[in-house]
Amino acid sequence: ETPQVHNFGAGPCILPKSVMEQAASAVINWNQSGLSILEVSHRSPEFESVVLKTQLLVRELLKVPDDYSVLFLQGGASTQFSMIPQSFLKTKGAYLDTGYFAQKAIKEARFYGDVQIVASSRDRDYTYVPDCDNIHYDADYIHTTSNNTIEGTEIFNFPKLGIPHFCDMSSDIFSRPVNVRDFDLIYAGAQKNMGPAGMTMIIVRNALLKTVDKTLPSMSDYRVFRDNNSLYNTPPVFSIYVSMLNLIWLKDKGGVEGVEQLNIRKANTLYAEIDRNTLFYGLANVAHRSRMNVTFKMKDPSLEREFLDFAAERGVVGIKGYRTVGGFRVSLYNALPLNSVNILVAAMRDFEGLKY
Ligand code: PMP
Repeated sequence: ETPQVHNFGAGPCILPKSVMEQAASAVINWNQSGLSILEVSHRSPEFESVVLKTQLLVRELLKVPDDYSVLFLQGGASTQFSMIPQSFLKTKGAYLDTGYFAQKAIKEARFYGDVQIVASSRDRDYTYVPDCDNIHYDADYIHTTSNNTIEGTEIFNFPKLGIPHFCDMSSDIFSRPVNVRDFDLIYAGAQKNMGPAGMTMIIVRNALLKTVDKTLPSMSDYRVFRDNNSLYNTPPVFSIYVSMLNLIWLKDKGGVEGVEQLNIRKANTLYAEIDRNTLFYGLANVAHRSRMNVTFKMKDPSLEREFLDFAAERGVVGIKGYRTVGGFRVSLYNALPLNSVNILVAAMRDFEGLKY
């Protein structure tokens, strides 16, 4: 018998069981066509309608205004770290330095021009989101990271700087409502709340693409993907298809507004136990605590290995912290049920009982 597993992994992450089942069945026989989803032509009308339906779901769920395009690219969110400055960095890019992935974006931007770090939380190991509101910057754009997957912080009040705003939403996309109009370009790797790894979603204001004043290699040019409706070359067919299934699931759950309520409950349940339990402490500043990735440690680090094993016996997997941070990182993506959080919390409580 398969053991029951509670997957708190940071990504690729848990997807709903019903989505996995539909995806598995489509691999064998897609829509009674006798063909696998893995072997259909990406130019067939059937697959083109999958792309269209996925785009429509994105538009509906995130209330994307008509003057924005929704694109599906490859190369992971990491490719966006260089694709953005390639198109939009003319003299200077402004970056909010909130952690590991923000740093990676900064590193790539430096290939294309000057980088201004508008604010950084490096001084306290990225445990908070620095303030940078109401400052005038003469940069071409500001780049932010809405959720810092490794450090466990999340931006709840985005800075408004009066310049184009580009945001890496890889690890909290579809977990809460977002006002798309506050951004000029949003990007996210699919492998958290959207679908399987392989696709990167871009939501971009069409007028922004008009500001690109150079020719670019096709695969680095957003305009090429927009003009070809994300079918310039073979797209990540399976990732797009499963994302469509997952977004249908999300819509049934009440959309991002509905799932946000569940995500708040899950996060509150876990943070309450971290704060109550004498063995553990949270890493992130309370006001910036991420609802998607919860980071914490044990006051006695020599107990961490033992707790990992103790929790694993109850089917809890994927909670080890990132290697540079240590401790624990518990991810609470959309498909993770509240029950899994309750099981982890019970393990923390019982482990405390064992030690006292
Ligand atoms: N940005 C953030 C916030 C992430 O969490 C990740 C991946 N975990 C990335 C970027 C990189 O994404 P990819 O692996 O798809 O390149």
